[in-house]
Amino acid sequence: MEKLISKYFVGGESFGLDAYEKDGGYGAARLIFDKFDAKGLIEEVKKSNLRGLGGAGFPTGMKWSFVPQNTGKPVYLVVNADEGEPGTFKDKYILWHVPHLLIEGMIIAAYANNVHKAYVYIRGEYTEPYRKFQQAVDDAYARGYLGKNIFGKKYDLEIVVHRGAGAYICGEETGLLESLEGKKGFPRLKPPFPAVVGLFGCPTVINNVETLSYLPFIINRGAEWFAKLGSEKNGGMRLFCVSGHVKKPGVYELPLGISLRKMIYEIAGGIREDRKLKAVVPGGLSAAILSAGEIDIGMDFDQLKAAGSMAGSGGVIVLDETVSMVEALMVTMRFYAHESCGQCSPCREGTGWVYKILSRITGGHGRSEDIHNLADICSFMGGTTICALADGAAMPLRSYPQKFRSEFEAYIREKRSSEAQQPGYESAGSEIKRGEGVGAIL
Ligand code: SF4
Repeated sequence: MEKLISKYFVGGESFGLDAYEKDGGYGAARLIFDKFDAKGLIEEVKKSNLRGLGGAGFPTGMKWSFVPQNTGKPVYLVVNADEGEPGTFKDKYILWHVPHLLIEGMIIAAYANNVHKAYVYIRGEYTEPYRKFQQAVDDAYARGYLGKNIFGKKYDLEIVVHRGAGAYICGEETGLLESLEGKKGFPRLKPPFPAVVGLFGCPTVINNVETLSYLPFIINRGAEWFAKLGSEKNGGMRLFCVSGHVKKPGVYELPLGISLRKMIYEIAGGIREDRKLKAVVPGGLSAAILSAGEIDIGMDFDQLKAAGSMAGSGGVIVLDETVSMVEALMVTMRFYAHESCGQCSPCREGTGWVYKILSRITGGHGRSEDIHNLADICSFMGGTTICALADGAAMPLRSYPQKFRSEFEAYIREKRSSEAQQPGYESAGSEIKRGEGVGAIL
């Protein structure tokens, strides 16, 4: 299978400007100025069926076409490199191994959207990828590929690199914009959407690192070629991050629509110690879980959505038969309770309540009504909040007990306990009583 981005993931090597150019790098960025106007470039990207690979899967060209031009305000490009979805670890490889590919993709996106100033928001923990990327930006400036009259054309583009400080919610695009403006990373109520009112109140294009990194390939080899690599309406390849109980975990660049079974058993070597597969998280922690019987599915945005889950960020977490789904859900909810920004009651209170209930269950003090209470809390978390964090928490919260209900029941009935519980939460959770309503849980 041909590699595109991942051909640069060679050992510990980071491709500097000379090595990247030797491999044809920046050829696409030079080409666009002569071959396309901005509208034509957007049409080309639309034809490629490139989807947003940060998680939402929205068609990239269509997203660009929503950006209003001639409003009298500048249009900004913001690159979301705040890769924080658990199970996802691909963007850091691009920033580290081939930072100029992202810069070239940014030049293409900037030209298509009439952008002259772009920002890259990098996850704070990504220290070395940040250094490599900043060095690449400096080198590109020095060679005239950024700054005034790039490539000798009448086009200016500035890139500002900004480091986050480790909050998951700053990966949500409007939380990211707030943070970039120097405020708390509180997501904004939408509409208006960032395409219209984004950074500093101006129209803003927000794209993920991987999405932009495919643009040079689309320009060099054509939109039709790229579209044909993937499945219907899901163009090209993507970097799947396969982790968990497989023999060969790693980042694999595969066509969109590839079978999940093939990914696990052929590409990632099957389940460790030849144990049985139990479940798979197909698209980052916020995706609804799939049981072992549901892996004959194509890994693209539309097929996974139709199956009640999502392709999300491409983080594929494989769980074998040794995993307790109750404990797995407890750990998952601990994450969301910790990362909720606290603006919306259903999210702030809901994630805390479910974590406490699950902590109590895994502490050996579960009650028969707990499964009902989890479902009850879940029912008011989805679709009722400012951003999608609560929806993201609701998907595992709904799907784990649905697909593994007997395991939850047995855990409660047999008063099983787990060493994974968090000290200090079992006593708080034991205060939860039925009949008092979720408002009285705490
Ligand atoms: Fe904050 Fe949660 Fe509301 Fe999102 S859903 S804005 S994370 S409280």
